[in-house]
Amino acid sequence: MKILISHISDDIRFFDFTSEKDDFDIPELADDVRLHVSAFRSSGTIHCKGIVYTAFHLQCDRCLDSYRMDIEESLEVLFTADPEAEMTEEQLVLLGSHDVEIDLKPFVRETLLLGLPFKKLCSTACKGLCVRCGANLNHESCSCKHDERDPRWEKLNELKKTLESAEE
Ligand SMILES: [Zn+2]
Ligand SMILES: [Zn+2]
Repeated sequence: MKILISHISDDIRFFDFTSEKDDFDIPELADDVRLHVSAFRSSGTIHCKGIVYTAFHLQCDRCLDSYRMDIEESLEVLFTADPEAEMTEEQLVLLGSHDVEIDLKPFVRETLLLGLPFKKLCSTACKGLCVRCGANLNHESCSCKHDERDPRWEKLNELKKTLESAEE
């Protein structure tokens, strides 16, 4: 995921890379990592903007099943060789005066780590495991009693009863 600085000009150019998942030291990676990135130079600063594509192999927090999650994360990094450049930009990287290339791989790795979901769910409708017998309720139903009465429904039931008795 390296671009020779001499290949970057004022005109926008596009670059495509694929790196093996093992190169990133992220155990959740399920696929090789592709990067589609544009690069151009503007008043001494190199602008790189791209999209990282891959997939994670995760375990659902609720039902403990493994699932695959496709990843499409955007990435933006600016490089400058000017040590006086204002470091106010979020992702502005200072280049050494002898650098001949920029390597986007560390930034791709960072993007992927930030893209790892904090809450892992195989689906928003995941029913999880039965708290009594441990059955995966997405795949099977169990005979345990599930006391899942919601007080809000209780109120509605009360109201329904009142309405029904009023009709009699
Ligand atoms: Zn699940
Ligand atoms: Zn059960």
